[in-house]
Order: sequence, then C-alpha cells, then structure tokens
Amino acid sequence: MRIATLSIGDELLFGEVTDTNASWLAGRLYGAGVPVRRHLTVGDDEDEIAAALESLAAEHDAVVVTGGLGPTDDDVTARGAAQATGRRLVLNEEALARLREFFDRRGREMHPANERQCLLPAKAGIIPNAAGTASGFHLVHGGALLVFLPGVPAEMTRMFADSVLPLILSRRTERRSVRTLVLSIFGLSEAEIGARLTGIDRSRPGLTVAYCVNYPLVEVKLRGEGEGAPVVDELLAAAAPLVRERLAGFIVAEGDETIDTAVARLFREKGMTLALAESCTGGLIAKRITDLAGSSAYFLLGAVTYANGAKTRLLDVSDDLLAEKGAVSAEVARAMARGVRDLAGSDVALAVTGIAGPDGGAPDKPVGTVFLALADRAGCTVKQYRFSGDREKIRTITAVTAMDWLRR
Ligand code: ATP
Ligand code: MG
Repeated sequence: MRIATLSIGDELLFGEVTDTNASWLAGRLYGAGVPVRRHLTVGDDEDEIAAALESLAAEHDAVVVTGGLGPTDDDVTARGAAQATGRRLVLNEEALARLREFFDRRGREMHPANERQCLLPAKAGIIPNAAGTASGFHLVHGGALLVFLPGVPAEMTRMFADSVLPLILSRRTERRSVRTLVLSIFGLSEAEIGARLTGIDRSRPGLTVAYCVNYPLVEVKLRGEGEGAPVVDELLAAAAPLVRERLAGFIVAEGDETIDTAVARLFREKGMTLALAESCTGGLIAKRITDLAGSSAYFLLGAVTYANGAKTRLLDVSDDLLAEKGAVSAEVARAMARGVRDLAGSDVALAVTGIAGPDGGAPDKPVGTVFLALADRAGCTVKQYRFSGDREKIRTITAVTAMDWLRR
C-alpha cells in the first residue's frame, strides 16, 4: 500500500512551527506496516493544495493531510480538496451538528465564523474530533483515500489513532509487515559497528540494517519486512543473536528499553536508592534520572556543587584536598561521592567532576578530563576519562557514561 502525507500551513514553510505531525504520522504508519513513501508541505494556498493533492492521489493509495481546517480565512484546505476532486463545497450537516454539540456541551455560544468549518466537499465522510471545532473528513478520489485532519497535534493524533488508522488498514490488500528492533550501542563508532555487522543484512531476504547516531550512542536498527507478522518476527529472532554476539559488551539498551530506563529498572529491582553530586554536568544526570516518572522511588538527592566552597560546605570535601589535588581529581571525585552518600543516606552515590571546556584545561588535565566516582556500602571506585569534543558533547558523553555505569 502506497501512502503519502501532506502538511499544510504557511507557518511550516516560514519555519515558525516544526512539522511534528509529519514525523508522528510517519512513525505510526511505519509501525503499522505501511511506511510513508512521500511527504509534501505546502502553504495555505488553495491552488497549491489542489495541485499537491492531485499529484499525490495519482500515485498513492492513501494520502493523509493535516492543517488548514480552522475557521479563519487563511484556512483553505477544504477548498483545495474540492478543487482537486472536482466537487462542490456544501454545508455538511453532520459536521454542523457535531460542532453545535461541541459548543453546547461547553455551554458556549458558537461564533458564526465556525460554520465555515462545515463547508466541506460534497459527499465527504466525517471524522469526529472530540477535542476541537474542526471535524476531519475523508473522500475517495480516483481510487485513492484522501483523509483531512486538523493541524493541532493533540487533535490530529487522537483522530488518527481512533478513526483514520483503522480506515487505512481496512483498505490494505497485502499482508506485508514491518518490524524494527533497535539496539543502542555505546563505545563503538558507526564505522566500527558497520564493519562488525558486514553481511548480516544480506544473510536473509527482507532483513535490513540501518544506523542512526544519537550522540554518543549509535542506534542499530534491525528491520524485518515480509508477508505477515509471524514471518517478520521469525526473521528478527533469527538475526538478533548474531548481532548481539558481534556487538557484545557495547549494547547498552535494546527494544523499548533505553539506557535511562535500564537504570530505573535496576534501582527498582534491587530496591536501592541513589544520590548524585555533579560538577561539570550541572544536573544533566539528575535530569535524565528524573525525566522518568516514578523516579522518586529511588532517587533521593542531586547536588550541583559547582564552586569549591559548595563541595566543602555541602559534601564535606576538605579545603586541603581541594588545594592539594585540584577540584578535578580522583581524590575529590571520591570525596564528593562519599559526601553526598552521607548527606542523602543513599545506598549508592555517584559523583562527577571534570573540565568541559572550552577554557580551564591544563597540560596535565586537558579539556575533556573527567572523573566519575561511585560509592556504595562496599567502598568507592573512581575512573578517569579523557573525552573530546566541544562543551556540549563532553557534558553529554559524561552523563551517558554515568548512566552506563549506574546501569551495571
Ligand atoms: P484549527 O484552526 O481548528 O486549530 P487547523 O486545521 O486550521 O485547526 P492549523 O491552523 O493549520 O490547523 O494549525 C493550528 C496549529 O496547529 C498551528 O498553529 C500549529 O501550532 C499546529 N500545527 C499545524 N500543523 C502542524 C504540523 N504539521 N506539525 C506540528 N504542529 C502543527
Ligand atoms: Mg493553518
């Protein structure tokens, strides 16, 4: 089944709004086994919309359109659809009834301008919109299904999931399935991974391997395509062990898991608590931990101790140690981890101190020098790293390295 998407709106062409609808739809359709073949964006212009619809309808079995269904003069998608399909615009009674009900339920008066939203191409089927005033609609033109949804992401996504995806899938004749297994790799470059996986995609028909850098991780996407879900599952199940073997030691997450959810799962499973003392990462590690709902079950405290005085007062790092070894040192990292563990009363504590640059490097401690320390009941381990890149990259890779350490 050939599918296209069309985003409508001047704001998209002017760079004022990022087209998240297109990527959301692409992901959903891909996951449902009907990948998008082409995507277009046009402005709020009736002729442009009509031309785009005509060309996409001629080459695809379904076109999903978002945007331009609002009540204002600049919303002309329905007019473009009427022009492209050679239909008249008529007042759609079902859309009008739904709109009246929308305002009644909220105890609000309907503005006459809203009635414009019910002027739709003749014989359009209505797609209900529970959250907004613009009904969606669908038409069949020259054998192609054309679906029109509002641009507002919250409305569009709900309508798509509830009504549109079932409609598209009901028109699908083939049983082609697509499934992807994602493995997150840390510590190997894209080139090194590619070399290790040479030939795997050719080992079986329908199997492809794609790479996506999400610094500092590389995602390996093992993709299976074939007739029906069982065939595809079998394809992935056969290939995955070989991929795992060739990347052994570097896989930090797989499937729905990420490096961050792996840490969360571990702390939950072990019933352990965590505290953090961060210097050069400025709270990035704490952010990753608390980005996940439910982290209060194991995360007790994160201290951003940037100045030496803060390390002394909050974490009990001694002035003498700071003066003798410097804030970026194995000894200070260790003292910070112990200090924050005592302060929080946690099972595990992790501390980081380093030089993210661009200034502050020295011959014996260049920019990118980072110390991580992990303290628990058994003692404290410190590791020194020498990362490269700009400030953002050094901070990011430090945070990911910390998560990788916590995960183990
Ligand atoms: P309504 O006017 O009823 O809100 P509409 O169908 O006319 O709906 P638009 O006016 O095109 O929708 O867009 C409304 C808002 O939705 C835009 O201001 C924008 O913030 C957001 N939006 C529109 N299209 C997209 C898109 N492709 N990706 C992300 N956001 C979008
Ligand atoms: Mg618009």
